[in-house]
Amino acid sequence: MHEEDHLEKVGVKKEMTWKTHMLLGAIAGYWAYPSWKGSVIGATMALVPDIDQARSKLGHFLGPVSKMLQKGLGHRTLTHSWVILLLPAAFWGDSPEGWAALWGLLSHLISDMLVGRIQLFWPLRMGWVGVRLSRALYGTVDRLVFYAAIVYIIYMGYM
Ligand SMILES: [Zn+2]
Repeated sequence: MHEEDHLEKVGVKKEMTWKTHMLLGAIAGYWAYPSWKGSVIGATMALVPDIDQARSKLGHFLGPVSKMLQKGLGHRTLTHSWVILLLPAAFWGDSPEGWAALWGLLSHLISDMLVGRIQLFWPLRMGWVGVRLSRALYGTVDRLVFYAAIVYIIYMGYM
């Protein structure tokens, strides 16, 4: 079986779009640290896990680094596991910024698990964690979440 076919089969290629990730990250960051700073940090951190994909928004920007990650470790391993969740504490410690970053990352992992599967316990080979959706359904879920997030942000803006 080809590598790509295999990834498709285990649900690894199903990704929320970066726009959805960013919106969810902004909400999560704000939730942890209610300020514009919280939402900016959350939104930024929500894009970080996908640097393991050369074709992603950030991956494109980082070029060689993300190609190396993708080739060396594979899709959705290190940057989609509990390991990446240690990053905020390492950088910011127990601070509002750290919590906003953590929630931004968490929002990415959780939303990826809703439409596909990730290697959550990497480097332990405990298998892929998450929901396997059909290709059609996953697109719908991504869009629904995207619009729900926009409605939520507008609603919060009026509060
Ligand atoms: Zn992802």
